[in-house]
Amino acid sequence: MKQQTLVLIKPDGLVKSLTGNILTRLSETKLEIIAAKIVKVSPELAREHYQNLAEQPFFEELINYLQGNLHARRKVLAMVYWGEDAITKVRDLAGATNPEEAEPTSIRGAYGRITSKGVYENVIHASSNEKEAEREIKLWFEPEEIILDVYPSQTKTLSIAKRVWA
Ligand code: UDP
Ligand code: MG
Repeated sequence: MKQQTLVLIKPDGLVKSLTGNILTRLSETKLEIIAAKIVKVSPELAREHYQNLAEQPFFEELINYLQGNLHARRKVLAMVYWGEDAITKVRDLAGATNPEEAEPTSIRGAYGRITSKGVYENVIHASSNEKEAEREIKLWFEPEEIILDVYPSQTKTLSIAKRVWA
């Protein structure tokens, strides 16, 4: 089944110059990148992204981590990968959430670490199922930023202030 999944290279992945390595690993899947951008993560976006973990003791640290407050890189690389069994393929390559338990050859096993405060800095995010993928992709991307029509969209005439080139 063709699927789409959200992939984030988290701030530790960027600060460690791992982007190239991670993209090379992901290209082994033969999946297609159908959207990509660098995002400065607001507190609101970070909280919304990890809303399911709001009750966890590590939540505030996790929100700080995703925003890049723990690293000298306040940004993430957000991408949508698309193709056959995209969700499982990317999750398998990413490896287990806890980098110490992840296969050493997986992305998280190779590059992740646990901070002294107990946060898993695991360099990459990957959607865990189709429902989460839809919620996350719609949170991070507008329809016109994705080159395939992966979810239904509509055209609306809006009157909003928008920054344009001067
Ligand atoms: N996380 C953590 N400690 C935990 C569980 C999760 O620091 O005990 C962090 C870790 O960065 C992880 C993120 O919270 O990637 C989201 O957790 P989730 O359970 O969704 O794991 P994932 O889907 O990223 O494997
Ligand atoms: Mg998750």
